[in-house]
Amino acid sequence: MAGTLYLVPTPLGNLADITLRAIEALKKADVVACEDTRRTLGLLNHLGISKPLWSYHAHSPGKRPRQLLEALQSGKAIALVSDAGTPGISDPGTSLVQGALEAGIPVVSLPGPCAAIAALAASGLPTDRFFFIGFLPRRTARARRVLSQAAENGGTVIVYESPFRTAGTLELIGTVAGPETPVVVVRELTKIHEEIIRGTAQEVLTRLQGRTLKGEVVILFRK
Ligand code: SAM
Repeated sequence: MAGTLYLVPTPLGNLADITLRAIEALKKADVVACEDTRRTLGLLNHLGISKPLWSYHAHSPGKRPRQLLEALQSGKAIALVSDAGTPGISDPGTSLVQGALEAGIPVVSLPGPCAAIAALAASGLPTDRFFFIGFLPRRTARARRVLSQAAENGGTVIVYESPFRTAGTLELIGTVAGPETPVVVVRELTKIHEEIIRGTAQEVLTRLQGRTLKGEVVILFRK
């Protein structure tokens, strides 16, 4: 009998954000597949759970996905986690989900922490339609094109960004959508230094000037 692949979201920073179902799935799993074994070990130790950890990341060689699929086919329950948030959302997971589905293995997705959704809900921008970009391409011309196409879609645009590139991306947003475009920078969600900066693209950029931004950042805007 085939096993089950559980997609288990983990806290973005505050360990209290783990859900009861996530704990249950981690307890029941035969194997926990994770990006960084040290990081996941810390979470499991915190929860008092001991499980075999198999590393699984974007560059996992072909052998590891095959091992995971074989384990699933032999009836094992596998909990897939990423370093933080929901696996498969700008994190490894999609190809494993596709492989499991192709092999007829049930995939169970547990709801839980996701930076994009938490940031959107807190942004104050309309949530009726939204367009998730994830990380922008590194090349400025490509990033501009992606932002411009997203802006034209008519929803709130959600971008995952490094703190070091945040100012540059705000400038690009000002260029493609206009300096008066409502923008929100959400930083370090659920952590001690959580910060949400709202304003126009120009205002937010001005507020960040002269600061060395640290931590994890989501940028949202609505043209
Ligand atoms: N799978 C994750 C999720 O469900 O949100 C996203 C993983 S992606 C590799 C990491 C990016 O998510 C960060 O660069 C940042 O843009 C965003 N992120 C993760 N944790 C965050 C936090 N605590 N506050 C703000 N943004 C966060």
